[in-house]
Amino acid sequence: MALEGYKQKRHFDTTPEPRPRLGKAHRRPLFVVQEHHASRLHYDLRLEADGVLKSWAVPKQPSLNPAVKRLAVQVEDHPLEYANFSGEIPAGQYGAGLVHIWDKGTYENLLARQPQPQSIAEGINAGHLEVHLHGRKLKGNFALIRMTGRAQKASWLLIKMQDAEARPDPVAAESTTTASMPQPVRTRPAVPRAHASSQPPATLTFTHQDKVMFPEVGITKGDVLRLYERIAPRLLPHLRDRPITVERFPEGLTGTEAPHFWQKNMPAYYPAWIPRATLPSEDGQLVTYALVNNTATLLYLVNQNALTFHPWLSRLQHLNQPDFVIFDLDPGAAPFADTVVVAKQLHTLLEDEKVASCLKTSGKTGLHIMVPWRHAEGYDAARDWAMGMALRLVAALPDVATVERHKTGRQQKVYVDVLQNARGHHAVPPYVLRAVPQATVSTPLVWAELTSTLEPRRYTLKTIFRRLARQKTDPMAPLLAC
Ligand code: MN
Repeated sequence: MALEGYKQKRHFDTTPEPRPRLGKAHRRPLFVVQEHHASRLHYDLRLEADGVLKSWAVPKQPSLNPAVKRLAVQVEDHPLEYANFSGEIPAGQYGAGLVHIWDKGTYENLLARQPQPQSIAEGINAGHLEVHLHGRKLKGNFALIRMTGRAQKASWLLIKMQDAEARPDPVAAESTTTASMPQPVRTRPAVPRAHASSQPPATLTFTHQDKVMFPEVGITKGDVLRLYERIAPRLLPHLRDRPITVERFPEGLTGTEAPHFWQKNMPAYYPAWIPRATLPSEDGQLVTYALVNNTATLLYLVNQNALTFHPWLSRLQHLNQPDFVIFDLDPGAAPFADTVVVAKQLHTLLEDEKVASCLKTSGKTGLHIMVPWRHAEGYDAARDWAMGMALRLVAALPDVATVERHKTGRQQKVYVDVLQNARGHHAVPPYVLRAVPQATVSTPLVWAELTSTLEPRRYTLKTIFRRLARQKTDPMAPLLAC
């Protein structure tokens, strides 16, 4: 019987998923792709046929690149109603986890137009389907081909066919579009929300403001929201148009077991007004990054328990060209006073080179020195230059500085890290909180403050505004003057 497999796996008094009923065929058949945060994130592709949804679980995000072949494992038919389902399948139930609609639309069965027309059911039997998808993300022709020579008959490949919608080079396609538009117009949220528009809403709703994020110093999520709202004018210019990784602590810094996420890919349910850019990662997977270009986006992410934002060193307009170089001075097992010595020496070397440089605390144990990069050359040249400076620094201070990558080889010396000057890597920007029990902030300093009594732990959420009130200009301003 149809939907028997679906029915047997589920308890409909517990799961919010639709009951196993046959649906009435739509004049234009539906397709849906659901982003399913089960024990492993995957994408469920479903095609309406014969009153049900024929279904495949695709472990990696479907791609518009014809060179990318996605494994698609055929699973049990789902009821037609499932095309509207989003929500949480409770723990302990089959497929427990969040389900969001990632893409949805209608489709055409291309093989129905052949001289010997083939239905979807016949195509599945034959192990070959071709469909034209009319989605927001997935557009154009796709083939589904059953893999041969597999014991498991369920393994198929999902492949974008060559046509006008194919995106062999997603960088060029996505970044130019997004860069020229301050707000996302192309992408809409999969699940429509009340505030879905291209402009941020006038007011945001914040949840669980009493939740304790930094138990050692009694700082709540409300405090964190207020910090970021107040510091936004200083922070946003450093984040604008940069892909970011968000460091999230859903339960705050509540012990070593507290969940801690590094999130690159923006969940599909984030509202449409959040600016975004879709870029391929090193392994060719597409990643949609949020762009923290306005206070509303910043606070939306903080409400999602983001503590720190880690932007790229380049902006969308020139993704292969960093606009600053970072020297990350990491004391490791060395005393902090040695880090001060190394920073001073590097400052001297940079002054000799007539290069502007900006100093800040990392917010953790070290110091960051940032130098504007105004050259046409990209990351490799920037990193080579930084490595050259680092080697001169080590030559000047062989007993306290090292560029040794491996901790065991550092011998209690200060590690001068320049390797993060690379595409896809990120740097801690000024004015963000760090996941440190004292709620420290990565704080810009003037060079005169670089003394043996410097104590980076003094710069925290509780003290930062007193300091900023006294400052007429941002010590990081040279990084922003383009
Ligand atoms: Mn699934």
